[in-house]
Amino acid sequence: MAVPQNKITPSRRNMRRSHDALTADNPGECPNCGELKRPHHVCGACGHYADREVVAQADEIDLDEDAA
Ligand SMILES: [Zn+2]
Repeated sequence: MAVPQNKITPSRRNMRRSHDALTADNPGECPNCGELKRPHHVCGACGHYADREVVAQADEIDLDEDAA
């Protein structure tokens, strides 16, 4: 089994971990519905992007369309 030849000091360990921090999300308000949404992504609440609807929402689709 491979074994480290030298002990990693707390200083070197912490220097390695200096790049491990997570960055916070930067949500903005959807201009259509006001929900928080990720920038440059379709709004998950209303399916709008750049002031137009690009994803139809499930409650807006008429499932009985073919049955009639
Ligand atoms: Zn929205």
